[in-house]
Amino acid sequence: MVLGAKLMLFTCYFCGIMGDELLRNWEKKSGEHRKQYQQWLKKADKNKVLGRLPDLHEEAFSKIDCLTCANCCKNYSPRFKTPDIKRIAKRLKMKEGDFIETYLRLDEDGDYVVKTTPCPFLRVDNYCSIYEDRPSDCARYPYTDEDVLLKRPQLTLTNSAICPAVYYVLERLMGA
Ligand code: SF4
Ligand code: SF4
Repeated sequence: MVLGAKLMLFTCYFCGIMGDELLRNWEKKSGEHRKQYQQWLKKADKNKVLGRLPDLHEEAFSKIDCLTCANCCKNYSPRFKTPDIKRIAKRLKMKEGDFIETYLRLDEDGDYVVKTTPCPFLRVDNYCSIYEDRPSDCARYPYTDEDVLLKRPQLTLTNSAICPAVYYVLERLMGA
């Protein structure tokens, strides 16, 4: 879902994981391996990692179903940048100012984020009600196919506790 995502609240939800041993109890294992991830992220060979990411990203999402997870949408807010606001307000047939007033607040970095979590655009069936026009941060999350994974180690560590795909890709990169 989200780059530069703002952690607002974290609760462990059951994710839609289909019978892969590596993913069993992933939240617990991710917490236990956090230090190892931190050290590994400092020393990782960038070119080697980037070369493996596309396949590992696909592999992770062949085993994980976002629609039975939605941890990111329940715990994070993406940044709503100006083009996102324009696009989504238009979709909702709202004036941009009204859209901002209804759904958004400015955070400590001066970025617009949602006022409430879970995200107000998350439906009860875990579909995004504005999917085609969702913020670009949402479209990019969890960066398991981008160099952000190495460039922003703190964000990757945070995401490893929220997103099973980040946990999975880190574990596979480290030799699992
Ligand atoms: S991107 Fe990660 S946290 Fe978000 S729904 Fe998919 S698996 Fe869950
Ligand atoms: S806009 Fe959609 S994809 Fe983004 S956090 Fe909200 S529900 Fe999730």
